Amino acid sequence: MNYLHLFKMPKPVKITGRSSSITNSFVNSIIPVIQPTEGQVKEALTILGILDNYQCVYCGDTATEWDHLRPLVLNKKPTGYISEVQNLVPACGKCNQSKGNKNWGAWMVSDAPLSPKKRNIPDIKERIEKLKKYETWGTAIQMDFQEILEKEDWEQHWKNCERIQETMRNAQILAAKINVEIADAYKKL
Ligand SMILES: [Zn+2]
Repeated sequence: MNYLHLFKMPKPVKITGRSSSITNSFVNSIIPVIQPTEGQVKEALTILGILDNYQCVYCGDTATEWDHLRPLVLNKKPTGYISEVQNLVPACGKCNQSKGNKNWGAWMVSDAPLSPKKRNIPDIKERIEKLKKYETWGTAIQMDFQEILEKEDWEQHWKNCERIQETMRNAQILAAKINVEIADAYKKL
């Protein structure tokens, strides 16, 4: 019996590993949140076929949140989609995490960790068809934020984001150096 295969080291953390969360928060913090009416929620659940069996639309697990169907962020910039029910679907945490900012259709049949295909969800095709129908329902609004805002405000917002990213990159360089020094000291214990 080899016991080493039972062991799993927690993933090493890098400060720069939080880079996309920072970008996401710079987009999420500026997008409007539109509360749906009860009628809209009922209509959404009806189109998705889960009015009487509320569940994650991607895999069928217990839904714990509503996920942005079309991503808010693409190539580190806002897509113009916002938080409105037309662009939100019930999802489980696993699917939401795994999907991230990917295109939902491509992600569902991709080999991304914890994707519906990877988890062998049996009715993927039916789920994709329902989601395609949902996409044409009400049509999610795509805004041009840059056009609405003062140029200086828009540019300053992304400068703020880049400044934080740069600080994180520099902090990571020092963290790596400190890490080696502590590991060396450990070896001498
Ligand atoms: Zn799911």
